[in-house]
Amino acid sequence: MMLDLAIIGGGPTGLTAGLYATRGGLKDVAMFEKGLPGGQITGSSEIENYPGIAHEVTGMELMEPWPEQCMRFGMKHRMEEVSRVSRRDDGIFEVFLLGGEVVEAKSVLISTGSTPRRAGIKGEDELFGKGVSTCATCDGFFYKQKEVAVLGGGDTALEEALYLANICSKVYLIHRRDTFRASPITIEKVKNSEKIELILNSNVKEILGDKMGVIGVTVVDKQNNERALDVPGIFVFVGMNVNNSILLQEDGSYLCDLDDNGNVIVDLKMKTSVEGLFAGGDIRIGAAKQVVCAAGDGAVAGIQALEYVND
Ligand code: FAD
Ligand code: NAP
Repeated sequence: MMLDLAIIGGGPTGLTAGLYATRGGLKDVAMFEKGLPGGQITGSSEIENYPGIAHEVTGMELMEPWPEQCMRFGMKHRMEEVSRVSRRDDGIFEVFLLGGEVVEAKSVLISTGSTPRRAGIKGEDELFGKGVSTCATCDGFFYKQKEVAVLGGGDTALEEALYLANICSKVYLIHRRDTFRASPITIEKVKNSEKIELILNSNVKEILGDKMGVIGVTVVDKQNNERALDVPGIFVFVGMNVNNSILLQEDGSYLCDLDDNGNVIVDLKMKTSVEGLFAGGDIRIGAAKQVVCAAGDGAVAGIQALEYVND
């Protein structure tokens, strides 16, 4: 069966696109999501800047009703990982699924978002999942009344340090500079937290572990002074990488134009350099990396896909 629209990625962008495309009249719309729908925000302990949701909720709570709303208008959800998207000479897209199936579609939205970056610290990869984590909501509970370290100086690091401060006995927040990227309100809360100790102008040199997992980290400052922290866990929040690998073609080229950092180049209608191929949310150039913006991109892309297919 030929899809009208194939949506790759079921975060706020993909889900909103599905809602607009199906409610606008597209009949065969499928969203391919390798995990549960909702996207990366479902791993966040709190969101307080989604308009209309006046009280703080968890990311999971925010996203829970979204899939049901899209499916009410006919969007299909397929729990599948997409390995590649290509376009044939006749203008039809081919969506290659990891299991080997190839699905044909008249239009495609790339809404695969972004994933946490690794810091490249010695011991980080070996101990990942054994005390090294990128999700405080998922793993924070393991460190109840224990000390933990957090690495990073952006919104994610500071917000998750605050979340961990409610569970853990102490949080060491390690940042390589003495000013933060996070929003001023969050910085203020961190500075006022009695449970958070700031370790600035410093980085983690090594994560130490044994067979059971992390046993400590070695922190080094700009003067090369070392400090050992005997923590059983470290949370690494050093930014995000865009998930653009499905655009990589067999000949090594990318299906559409990307900027130097791998972000998909789109216009204000979420159109990529390839006709019928749309992209939105964290994966696109200039993304504000906010749920409300991702949802806005999804709405634009859904409307544009509708126009493209109907034409
Ligand atoms: P994502 O949410 O990343 O969703 C992409 C989806 O695509 C994922 O579900 C993924 O599984 C799927 N996928 C990827 N590749 C494939 C593939 N090959 N095949 C199938 N499926 C695939 N924003 C705010 O507005 N307020 C906040 O308070 C806030 N807090 C945050 C806290 C944390 C800890 C994090 C990590 C982010 C936070 N953000 C916040 C940012 C926000 O979550 C993102 O901007 C938003 O989720 C981006 O949506 P998206 O749809 O573009 O991508
Ligand atoms: P980010 O803003 O890119 O911050 C990454 C942090 O990690 C920076 O402080 C950076 O230091 C540090 N860092 C990077 N590489 C490092 C390394 N190898 N070793 C040590 N430190 C390293 O990433 P983010 O915090 O994940 O946020 C991503 C986007 O999502 C942002 O646009 C953010 O605003 C958004 N977001 C928004 C909210 C919200 O609205 N409430 C919440 C979470 C995320 P430098 O500062 O020195 O570069």
